[in-house]
Amino acid sequence: MAVKRTPFIAGNWKMNLDHLQAIAFVQKLAWSLADAKHDYADAEVAVFPPFTDLRSVQTLVTADSLPIGYGAQDLSKHDSGAYTGEISGAFLKQLDCGYVIIGHSERRTLHAESDEDVNAKVIAAHRHGLVPVLCVGETAEDLEAHGASAVPVAQLRRALEGVDASKGLVVAYEPVWAIGSGQAATPAQAEQVAAALRAVLAELAGDEVAQATRILYGGSVKAANIAAFLREPNVDGALVGGASLDIDEFSAIVRFKK
Ligand code: PGA
Repeated sequence: MAVKRTPFIAGNWKMNLDHLQAIAFVQKLAWSLADAKHDYADAEVAVFPPFTDLRSVQTLVTADSLPIGYGAQDLSKHDSGAYTGEISGAFLKQLDCGYVIIGHSERRTLHAESDEDVNAKVIAAHRHGLVPVLCVGETAEDLEAHGASAVPVAQLRRALEGVDASKGLVVAYEPVWAIGSGQAATPAQAEQVAAALRAVLAELAGDEVAQATRILYGGSVKAANIAAFLREPNVDGALVGGASLDIDEFSAIVRFKK
């Protein structure tokens, strides 16, 4: 049975914008979205700033009751202790983060995060009441060797070992070759993988959870291509990198028209 899922547009700032720039950005984004109220597409919006911005974003969002969610780009699998440089999910929860990105390909590649680490982080996020935005995706070599779905499906299975997905989950399908390359997947490719991921969710967590879970596409999303992705039945939003740093572009993505 098909259920209606609220589209989710998530802006992954990566290591961009300090806390002062973050305040100005979120304020302007809120104005831009409010201005566009008449054609606002009823999407949920969230930004994912660097850790050092989160307190400022929280203060602004709370003080002005802005309709903008926020989360962190990573968390520690540990809760506290001798882990220099790590940030606990408990701290993120204290800052009222709703979400946390886990397993982004840049973390997997540049910080050697394994499927096991990703799994432990999903469990840590749930332990603290955060909703993981779990990233999966194949490299160009994987695509060539195994097709598009095999690696993301395997990563999803590993990430969800021992996880109760009904505690809240967003899955982001991000082909590594499409990230920051300007070469997005086609909507049909994204749909094919999103459908395969939803089938795995149904197998692991049941049909109800699978139908309620939002699956995003990420990789060179911009205002010009968002609507085509969102016309696909299994694509429920986007994880946006580069284009999330441009207020007009990001706000146009949020206001997509199917
Ligand atoms: P991009 O990045 O939109 O710049 O391709 C997406 C991401 O890394 O989440």
